[in-house]
Amino acid sequence: MCIEAHKLGYTVAVLDPNPKCSCSYVCDKLIVGEFDDLVKLNELGKCCNVLSYEFENVKGEILEELNDKYNIPQGICPLFDSQDRLREKMNATRYGLPTVRYFDCSSLLDLKNAISALGYPCIYKTRREGYDGHGQVVLHSVIDIDKVKPYLEHNLGIVEEKLEFDYECSIILIRSKENIISFPIGLNIHKDNILDITAVPNPYLSKEMEDRIIEASKEFMIQANYYGILTIEYFVKGDKFYFNEMAPRPHNSGHYTIEGCTTNQFKELDKFLLSLPLEKPKLISATCMKNILGRDLVNLEKLKNIKNSNYHDYQKDQVKPLRKLGHITYTNTTLDLLRTEFKKQNIGE
Ligand code: ADP
Ligand code: MG
Repeated sequence: MCIEAHKLGYTVAVLDPNPKCSCSYVCDKLIVGEFDDLVKLNELGKCCNVLSYEFENVKGEILEELNDKYNIPQGICPLFDSQDRLREKMNATRYGLPTVRYFDCSSLLDLKNAISALGYPCIYKTRREGYDGHGQVVLHSVIDIDKVKPYLEHNLGIVEEKLEFDYECSIILIRSKENIISFPIGLNIHKDNILDITAVPNPYLSKEMEDRIIEASKEFMIQANYYGILTIEYFVKGDKFYFNEMAPRPHNSGHYTIEGCTTNQFKELDKFLLSLPLEKPKLISATCMKNILGRDLVNLEKLKNIKNSNYHDYQKDQVKPLRKLGHITYTNTTLDLLRTEFKKQNIGE
């Protein structure tokens, strides 16, 4: 967002608890403070014409106070609604998006009742603050109930059906007062519950299905009265699609848009925030994005050497095996071609 804002001729101030955060290398002013530090948030608000968020766990309640004082074009609703998996799923159903079956779960009794209704396998998820598979337990049999118990002590949760989906995909939409644009829907491949590759176009997605997902997603945004950016993750099985979760911020599955599309998610979000007209994105060529986690660093040179690669290093200060440290976008490449290349280079998947 900072990089694209600069290209549009604007400056950016950022609040982050970490003085060495990724943004510290590209923003114009860094305010170091916790996401719920009202003094720092006010300092940020006072020095900006327009405010936005790029992280789901800024407390919705705090934003309410800021929303009265500062210009937050996205408002706080999409953030608030996405912060709680139960509220998020109820909201999806209310505004026309089907979900897998789920149950509220805040006690052992709730858990057992949900398992009786859903059968195994099913998934327990904490309602708040989960990401990249954190706060989730897949229950295959009664033995796994013990793994959920520690969560039940401190968290509210949900239990949902584990769907044997055909594939996962996500759509990124940006809505302004004038219109709604959406980016081409890719195929999302997860490894250990973390996004590994996004491939566009999605080889399994028919034009008919893509149109239905776009239509339903736009209608959802309108009915829910959301503006700005929204990513919706879906599971697809047969001719049905199911809402999984949403995020009112640029999304990892949309990083391919930087090189792969005529305009990208960050630029269009900035333009929305600045009240500039939105541009309808088009795919330039078949494109794949591969995430670089700490565990991928051993293969980084090989991955960078594959043709048409564009490496983005987030300059994170700490490396962990499952932490996202950057991504590589390969233009002019299909998933099959990329996988053949990985095999040739001995890069395990
Ligand atoms: P987060 O991305 O916040 O960690 P998700 O709910 O998206 O949480 O779960 C992460 C991944 O786990 C999903 O992308 C999917 O691969 C898998 N998963 C989550 N829920 C289900 C489900 N109900 N059925 C099958 N797979 C699931
Ligand atoms: Mg997810």
